[in-house]
This record gives sequence, C-alpha cells and structure tokens, in this order.
Amino acid sequence: MSELITSTERALAERLAASIGAITGPENVLTGDAVAEFRWDALGPWRGFPEYDALSPQPLVVARPRTTEEVSGIVQLTAQQGIAIVPYGGGSGLMGGAIALRPSVVIELKRMDSIFEMDSENLTVRVQAGVILEALEQALNRDGLILGHDPWSLPIATVGGAISTDSLGYRGAKYGSIGDQVLGLTAVLPDGSIFDRTTPAKTSVGPDLRRLFIGSEGCFGIVTEATLRVFREPELRSMRAYRFRRFEDGFAAIVEMHGIGLAPALLDYGEHPGDGAEPAPATLYLGFEGFREEVGAQKRRVRLICTKAGGRSVGRGEAKAFWKRRHDIAIGFAERRRQGGTRPRPAGGAFDFVHVTLPRSRVLGFRAASTALLEANAVRAVEYGIWCWPELFSVTMTADGADAREHLSGAVDELLSLARDMGGSIEYCHGVGVRLAHVMEREHAHGLEVMRSIKRALDPEGILNPGKLGL
Ligand SMILES: Cc1cc2nc3c(=O)[nH]c(=O)nc-3n(C[C@H](O)[C@H](O)[C@H](O)COP(=O)(O)OP(=O)(O)OC[C@H]3O[C@@H](n4cnc5c(N)ncnc54)[C@H](O)[C@@H]3O)c2cc1C
Repeated sequence: MSELITSTERALAERLAASIGAITGPENVLTGDAVAEFRWDALGPWRGFPEYDALSPQPLVVARPRTTEEVSGIVQLTAQQGIAIVPYGGGSGLMGGAIALRPSVVIELKRMDSIFEMDSENLTVRVQAGVILEALEQALNRDGLILGHDPWSLPIATVGGAISTDSLGYRGAKYGSIGDQVLGLTAVLPDGSIFDRTTPAKTSVGPDLRRLFIGSEGCFGIVTEATLRVFREPELRSMRAYRFRRFEDGFAAIVEMHGIGLAPALLDYGEHPGDGAEPAPATLYLGFEGFREEVGAQKRRVRLICTKAGGRSVGRGEAKAFWKRRHDIAIGFAERRRQGGTRPRPAGGAFDFVHVTLPRSRVLGFRAASTALLEANAVRAVEYGIWCWPELFSVTMTADGADAREHLSGAVDELLSLARDMGGSIEYCHGVGVRLAHVMEREHAHGLEVMRSIKRALDPEGILNPGKLGL
C-alpha cells in the first residue's frame, strides 16, 4: 500500500478492492503501489500554480472496468459508502481534473477500448470512452474515414477525456471541437443509473442533455460510450506556411480569411517575441482539406490575402514538417511518463500558459496589454498564438528564480481577468480542473450557482470528482 494512506484507509481500500473485484474481476483492481501512476495527470509542479505543493492525491483503489454496466455497479457500490469517485482517461489533462483530491476510487477507463461500429454511410462511429484517439483515427483511416479531432495529445488522450474537456485539435478550424462531433452519449450518473441519448444530426426536443457531459470533467457523470460524427478522408490535403514581419499583419490576413468564409482545416499562427528591439516575425501554418476544387480555390485565395497583408510564402517543406511533427510533444510526454515521469520541480524556473477566447476585435488590444502586464509581473512571453479561429488567442510564458511560480500565478490571473473584462472566456480547450477552479465565478457569475444546483440534484453527496470546476 502507498505510504500516503493511513491504516484506516488501507483497510477501507482492501474492502473496496474486494467488492469492486467481484464486479470487474480481481485482476482489474489496483491497490498499493500500483495506484501510484494514477495520482497525477499532466498538471506538473513546473506550472505557475504554487498550490500544487499542497495537493496530496489519494487514490485508494483503481478500478478498471470493461463495460458500462460494470461502471454502474462500481459507482453504486462506492456511492453507497459516500466515497469519492474520479474518472481517469489518458491522464493527459493539463488542469489537474483527474487528480483524486480526497480518498477516492479512481475509475480508469482504458480497458473500455472497443470500437463498435464504423458507419461509412451515416458517417458515424460508436466507441467506448477509453479508446485512445490515435487508435480510433487509425481504425477510421483503414475505412477511408477521419475523426476530424486531432489534438497534440492524439497519441495519449481518450475519447472520454476529450469529451469531458471539450478538447480542440489542429483540425478544429474546419471540424470544430470534439463536443461539436458528439451525436450520442452513454454516461453513468452519480447514483449509478445510466443516461443514454443518440440522435442523427440535429434535434429540437427540449434541452440537449448530452451537453451536460461535454466539458464537465466527470462532475455530472462518467461517459462510457459515445457516437461521434466522422468525415470522409479528404480528396486532397495541402499545407502552406507564410511568414509575416509583424504579428498584426498575419492576424489581419486570418481575419480576412474568416470574413469571407474561408476555413482552412488547420490554422496555427505564432510569434516568439525576442528582446523587443526588433518586431519578431510570425509564422502562419495552414492546412487545406476537402474536395479537389475546394482545396485549390482556398490555396489561391489565401495566397492573395497573405501576400496583400505582407506575408511571404516560406515553402512547402517547412509547412509539411510542421504537420509531421505536430504530435511530437505528446510523444515525448508519454515517453517521459513511461520512464517514471518528471514530477520534481525542475530547477531554474517555471512556465504556464493561457488559452483565452476574445472577440476578434479585441485580440490585438489584449496582446498589447499582455506585454505590459507580463513585464510588471517579472514574466516573459515565449509565444503569442492564434489557433483555429481568430478569436482563440494563447500566451505561453516563463519566469525564473525562486518565486517563478508566484509571478506566473499572478500574471495568469491578471490575464484571465483581462480576458473577461474584454468580453472573452478564460480557456478555450483545456478545461478547468483544479488549476482554474478559482476563476469559475469570474467566468460564469450566477451561472456557477445554476451548475451547483444541477450538481446537487444529481449528486447530493458530491461524490463525483469533488473539487473540480469550482463546483
Ligand atoms: C503534450 C500535451 C498536449 C496536449 N494537447 C492538447 C490539444 O492539442 N488540445 C486540447 O484540447 N488538449 C490538449 N492537451 C490536454 C489533454 O490532452 C486533453 O485535455 C485531453 O482531452 C484529456 O484526455 P485524457 O483522456 O487524457 O483525460 P484525463 O486527463 O484522464 O481526464 C481529463 C478530465 O476528464 C475527466 N474524465 C476522463 N475520462 C472521463 C470519462 N470517460 N467520463 C467523464 N469524465 C472523464 C477526468 O476526471 C478529468 O477531469 C494536451 C496535453 C498534453 C500533455
């Protein structure tokens, strides 16, 4: 048993393991040292979150069910004893959403990896929630289909985790977030009952309860299966890259593209600010996917728009290389985790990021204000970026010294507050978890009370993923 749990908890863990084992088979319940790898997700000590040091994750047992019915049985059994439950997918969440803040049963979903039905006529796929996105993409590709959801973390994230954070990927500019692709969901509610709803395309029969489980980080239910909209493998894919002397110029080109309804599949724009003496060049990577004539027309028009805005084509080699290495960071992350992780705080600094949504008219104002705000907090910007749509703006930043995390924490909070003042939202793809729970009220105002009422109605004892989403 892990040294972090008391003898009472150890006895409880043993009892739980025995009764959960009767549902899943004892070989699918982990206890003791084997739970250690489920203590953390991808929120690390190197982030601008000094509160991290006070977190003491407490997974008592890890249950590895195979079916929705098994999940339901585990939830009923655990809920009856008032013990917390934390759903765990690939553990790649960046906000600490999968960390067990209380003594908990962690339900790890990766054994639920069946792909039931790939329907190339209706362009849908029915899957279990524990399927890794990359495995699903590869299976679809064999049938001439694509998922359309392509985050950096494709090789490590699960379908259930992606839905629960409403994740966005490289192809989001054309296909939207994974939440936009959900046609059907099965979810186990906190009392063990099973919610199930699937419709083809659009429906207008009352509020869409599927949305309750999209982006809600397992606080209202555990997603066990999903029907997703998928797409035919495009006839043509083509990559381009343009360099702009100033961030503003490339941004104007992006706004113009969107203004005329031109949606590339991939849009990734970034600037790495230097010492401020010279404007840093910014690079726009674009990927076009679709039927042949569409791709050709998009490329021609984009060339005109970018050239007019002062952009210079940097050749297809660089654009293709960008496409090829787009998952490398996640592959590196998975490799480090396999080798035992990198939990200790690396010496010499910390880094963090914000991914905010802003009215497109406020993006450049936000960027200008961030520069001054970061400087005042002794924080350096490493990258400013736009992803998918002109409204989605990110700042990656770093700080040095013993107080690096405190500086970053202050800078992040001020940036998020500024985004709200400008009519924006504090995060566009990574969710909230424990890292951003303190800003939920700033984001939702009375809406947070509405969420808490729903939570109380579904989960009066507050057993499902407690401490997340500010609920
Ligand atoms: C290197 C790297 C790159 C990344 N790139 C991207 C990116 O491009 N785009 C992006 O959006 N995100 C990205 N992320 C963040 C992360 O990959 C996503 O948030 C992903 O969707 C999480 O999936 P997961 O299966 O790992 O979920 P986990 O981390 O296991 O869980 C995330 C949250 O969902 C809950 N949960 C998990 N499974 C279920 C379920 N079945 N039912 C209910 N709740 C559940 C957990 O309790 C937790 O609150 C990246 C992370 C890393 C480390």
